[in-house]
Amino acid sequence: MIISRNPYNGEEIASIKEFTKKDIDNALEKANKQFKSWRNTSFEERSKLMLAAAKELKKNKQEYAETITLEMGKPITQAIAEVEKCAWVCEYYAENAEKQLSNENIKTDAQESFISYEPIGVVLAVMPWNYPFWQVFRFAAPALMAGNIGVLKHASNVMQSAENIQKIFERAGFPVGCFQNIPISSSKVEDIIRDKRIKAVTLTGSKPAGSSVASIAGEEIKKSVLELGGSNALVVFKDADLKNTVDTCIQARFQNTGQSCIAGKRLIIEESIAEEFLELFSKKVRELKSGDPRDEKTYIGVLARKDLAEDLENQVKASVKQGAKIYLGGKRNGTYYEPTILTEVTKEMTVFKEETFGPVISITTFKDEKEAIELVNISDFGLGVSLFTEDIEMAKKISPQFDDGAVFINELVKSDPRLPFGGTKISGYGRELSIHGIREFVNKKTVYIK
Ligand code: NAP
Repeated sequence: MIISRNPYNGEEIASIKEFTKKDIDNALEKANKQFKSWRNTSFEERSKLMLAAAKELKKNKQEYAETITLEMGKPITQAIAEVEKCAWVCEYYAENAEKQLSNENIKTDAQESFISYEPIGVVLAVMPWNYPFWQVFRFAAPALMAGNIGVLKHASNVMQSAENIQKIFERAGFPVGCFQNIPISSSKVEDIIRDKRIKAVTLTGSKPAGSSVASIAGEEIKKSVLELGGSNALVVFKDADLKNTVDTCIQARFQNTGQSCIAGKRLIIEESIAEEFLELFSKKVRELKSGDPRDEKTYIGVLARKDLAEDLENQVKASVKQGAKIYLGGKRNGTYYEPTILTEVTKEMTVFKEETFGPVISITTFKDEKEAIELVNISDFGLGVSLFTEDIEMAKKISPQFDDGAVFINELVKSDPRLPFGGTKISGYGRELSIHGIREFVNKKTVYIK
């Protein structure tokens, strides 16, 4: 049994029966069988179903969002926004997949030569709890539109959301087996990756999980895509519009109660404005409303599990020992962790080096552009960086010097179905979303006619 608990009050909300070996075999058989017909459906047919999935998401967004909130503590308004965003990615791929995967003629010495983008089969998705719907839909929408089949191993604490996602595709009319949830603990993932019916795997989650899954996939010569952790920097130059920058940085760090891979975790401010910025920023942080995630007024909920809140507490304690100062917050109560600002943080400290998965922001200052770039790039992570400045030309000029998968200027790093999303270094490899996401799990076949 996999037990689901409400992290706000500890109440058990569901117990889900784990699939047995036989159940898993049946699911993979169903998936593999379905691939044989699904791959031959037209884009028009797939689009119709994907649009129906979008409609279903919009129609029952409240119900799906409530389950997310109960299972992992996301404030309800943010859970609704997440479900709506899933409808967007379904619509985006329903409208664009055909164009993105149509044959591409290449002029050679042949009479005709072209690249044909073809589905590869059943893809396993191992997904995290922090955006229980979004992480899955940003994989599933392009995968299904490309003619692939999806099987999901979701995080153990969001198994009801996982069931809901399968239900959404069924309600939309997708043939049985196109998308299946396989409720299992992570110890059973290895056998699934090694199964001949699985052709590739995508994982969104932590480095240890990514490393294990990719090693097994590598041994089996199966493709993997990894979307792992991040420790994005928010770099504030002295000429930035402070009011807008403060508001954006608050959102970048504190939405989803800080449990986002692309959250701005390291605030790196030009020395001459640090004091003024901190004053404005801390005033706004104090105004963030904490409380019951089901309350529409709540902005800061609880962390998804107690052990995660304890990990965060330990990272803060270690950093304080190393010399960081608690400017605001710094206390835990069960799964709740206060919005916290740490100042005088240096590149050697835990909160700078590790990913902090909760409402904690570290503040470091820089003297010049060169030092700012060094501080950003010294991180082992490479998901994205935000630059705040009125000098757009300068920001554009230095943007190639960052190692990350994304540079956002005067904006928080965010995912958008139209733009590729993914990291470098230990943040992973491969891309999701846009044309690049849908082309990750296809056979790019060369066709040559003499
Ligand atoms: P996690 O512990 O790695 O779990 C992610 C998924 O992997 C879960 O389904 C988990 O199942 C499974 N898993 C864990 N260990 C595994 C193993 N050894 N073999 C196979 N599967 C395994 O991560 P999390 O705590 O849920 O999520 C937080 C992390 O995800 C953070 O580092 C965050 O930055 C990252 N993340 C990255 C992105 C991105 O787009 N780059 C987006 C969101 C989150 P169980 O729950 O059953 O253990």
